[in-house]
Amino acid sequence: MNASKTAVVVGAGFGGLALAIRLQAQGVQTTLLEKRDKPGGRAYVYEDQGFTFDAGPTVITDPSALEELFAAAGKRMSDYVEMLPVSPFYRLCWEDGRHFDYANDQEALDRQIHARNPADVAGYQRFLAYSKAVFEEGYIKLGAVPFLSFRDMIAAGPQLARLQAWRSVYGIVSRFIQDEQLRQAFSFHSLLVGGNPFATSSIYTLIHALERKWGVWFPRGGTGALVKGMVKLFTDIGGRIELNAPVAAIETSGGRASGVRLQDGRVFAADAVASNADVVHTYASLLGQHPRGVAEGEALGKKRFSNSLFVLYFGLDHHHSQLQHHTVCFGPRYRELIKDIFNGEALAEDFSLYLHAPCVTDPSLAPPGCGSHYVLAPVPHLGNAPIDWEVEGPLYRERIFDYLEQRYMPGLRSQLVTSRIFTPVDFRDQLNAHLGSAFSLEPILTQSAWFRPHNRDADLPNLYLVGAGTHPGAGVPGVIGSAKATAGLMLEGMHA
Ligand SMILES: Cc1cc2nc3c(=O)[nH]c(=O)nc-3n(C[C@H](O)[C@H](O)[C@H](O)COP(=O)(O)OP(=O)(O)OC[C@H]3O[C@@H](n4cnc5c(N)ncnc54)[C@H](O)[C@@H]3O)c2cc1C
Repeated sequence: MNASKTAVVVGAGFGGLALAIRLQAQGVQTTLLEKRDKPGGRAYVYEDQGFTFDAGPTVITDPSALEELFAAAGKRMSDYVEMLPVSPFYRLCWEDGRHFDYANDQEALDRQIHARNPADVAGYQRFLAYSKAVFEEGYIKLGAVPFLSFRDMIAAGPQLARLQAWRSVYGIVSRFIQDEQLRQAFSFHSLLVGGNPFATSSIYTLIHALERKWGVWFPRGGTGALVKGMVKLFTDIGGRIELNAPVAAIETSGGRASGVRLQDGRVFAADAVASNADVVHTYASLLGQHPRGVAEGEALGKKRFSNSLFVLYFGLDHHHSQLQHHTVCFGPRYRELIKDIFNGEALAEDFSLYLHAPCVTDPSLAPPGCGSHYVLAPVPHLGNAPIDWEVEGPLYRERIFDYLEQRYMPGLRSQLVTSRIFTPVDFRDQLNAHLGSAFSLEPILTQSAWFRPHNRDADLPNLYLVGAGTHPGAGVPGVIGSAKATAGLMLEGMHA
């Protein structure tokens, strides 16, 4: 045990929380400092007039990684939060009126694929086999392993080459599947972690195998209930969390991190410091008084960042029983729209949407007979498209409401009780996200694994990173994996 050791973790997103739990469970007295009034980061929760809105992640995959986390602290996840299965995983809809229910039911999948293009039934089987192979290499073997040296990257090289990791997600899917809508159905997943299907490494097709293996889940009470459960677990085992505690600086002394200073002037000394905050914010701002912070902040600032999101939360006095829990509403364009989202300098005329209807699984998230929802549209980040969101946001909301009312939710406007929006400017200002990116560094091959910011800083040996900006990357399973990798390094460092 590490009874005399102390650690500070900056930021209570899923990555920060999971890391803090792992450290505290090993006897490191850990303090978690969060700038906002609630924990969760991207998984914040809004409550309004009896409606509960999960702000971010809603598709919870790989519950085994969460169970492992609770077990690492000697507890059972089921004592803290109940996970409910979601089926179908998603309903995918196109403007021609066709839809595809993506479920963990081979027969149902085959039937739907056959109806579109009989040859794609066998093609899908080959795609699934490919995706399983990538999953074994990329997730099971390497998902929670820190890539600190280029040697680690070279060691993984042959497998990456064999799996044709240089190809894009869409490129690989197209080798197996001919129907264009099915290509979209099996390639959009990388968007869930900020990856452009036309540019992101085909490694990200592993998400498909991961969902098929463990399913898609939703915590009873919403994703916020999982965050609450993790905070309770952390404090049950003796951890300390402070909310409304924005960190102003990571302090250094003699080439090491010595602790952090809050904006209110309070100083928390620690044997090790880890940041779950945005990686550019961590280096350029929190470590901005140190040459390492200036240099790394500048270098990271030049990297490619993932798109942002426009998120619209709304509560209705009506339950739309025709909806599934998760719906992807494909717009008229796919490849071209994605290009506009990742490289465009303005907001496109059309959009593709993800619609969340959690009351399908858990009606307690809204008053009886009502529905709480969110809908998100991927949009360019502020570095590509410096849109005035104060003006555009309310207009965009109206366009999205019109679209949903016409195509998916008749009567929506007359049923509206409450709504709020979250724009790229909010990602930047509320979460300190560089350029308002929703998922941090874009997960292209040259910014993945060893090429991603490392879980341990290269110069300050007791400064660590955890979360979407480090290995393996964004998404709940990704940041839970990053916490495991970072915790291993920190515990090793404390014993050295
Ligand atoms: C709308 C949306 C939907 C998503 N849907 C899914 C999904 O369905 N499934 C999925 O797996 N993933 C999803 N994701 C991605 C996933 O939510 C994120 O990748 C993941 O939650 C990021 O976790 P993180 O550990 O990097 O921390 P973050 O959630 O980024 O948290 C970082 C924390 O650091 C805090 N912080 C920043 N600066 C400071 C400071 N100076 N001092 C103190 N605290 C600070 C922030 O306030 C924040 O709480 C979604 C993301 C978004 C935005």
